[in-house]
Amino acid sequence: MPVRAVCAAAVVISLLSSCAGKPPSEGGSLRSAFAAGDAAGSLRPKDDARSPVALTPAAWGRLNKMGGLAGRELTVSSISDIKLRDKEVVLTFDDGPMPKKTERILATLDQFGVKASFMMVGQMAKAHPDIAREVVAEGHTIGSHTYRHPNLAHLSFDEAVAEIEKGRRAVEAATGVDADFFRFPYLSDSRKLRHWMGRHRMVVMDVQVDSKDYFSDTPAAVATRTMEALRAHRKGIILMHDIHPRTASMLPALLTQLRAEGYKVVQLKYGKPSSDMLVASTIRPLFAAN
Ligand SMILES: [Zn+2]
Repeated sequence: MPVRAVCAAAVVISLLSSCAGKPPSEGGSLRSAFAAGDAAGSLRPKDDARSPVALTPAAWGRLNKMGGLAGRELTVSSISDIKLRDKEVVLTFDDGPMPKKTERILATLDQFGVKASFMMVGQMAKAHPDIAREVVAEGHTIGSHTYRHPNLAHLSFDEAVAEIEKGRRAVEAATGVDADFFRFPYLSDSRKLRHWMGRHRMVVMDVQVDSKDYFSDTPAAVATRTMEALRAHRKGIILMHDIHPRTASMLPALLTQLRAEGYKVVQLKYGKPSSDMLVASTIRPLFAAN
């Protein structure tokens, strides 16, 4: 990798590390869950359907193109079009692309035959265009996440718009495709910016289930926490980050458990929706008021 790219990545990593905050003190009780793997190494999710982590890494290695998890494609042109049915989830990965981590996640998604949305930071996409294009080649949905990952609430409206536009341009230049989806860094939005996006062909990707994979927990804790949050919502957009090794490590267990509990992974695409894709349900952003 060119020295310049390495430096750019290092700068971005240091910026993004501020995402992390302090690990939750209550995470300890979940940490032993991975150790409780099936000694026989077989996949028996129904034995303990409440635990996404009753699997050993060796068992994951025996998974071959696990089907049954892929759901429908949902074409949307505004946030109000994102209407998921019961037991439907959207997988989203923010802050990348990141060497090694993003590729590991792509391999797992391919193994399970599902598509996700990658909300790329402009600076990261510029530093790693080869990985950005690999994400596109694998058929995943592309979105942007600003250029430098600032908290937009700390910027003026004009500065925030400039960050958003620069990030989108960088992601589109790196990937070669439109990046019509957008996620607010730190989920820090404003009514004015959301309104601006609605007028500029950008669909805000809200979050219903936060994996909190930015806390320095074990992969088991992340998978368990995500499943617990999802069971409470029964559907929704799941927030993860493709810059953390723990996220890449826990993803096979999470997808195995989603499949065992009958969830379907929906892929969002940008475009004019057909009427039969819309069903009555309401998704409210968790952090809209922040
Ligand atoms: Zn982020």
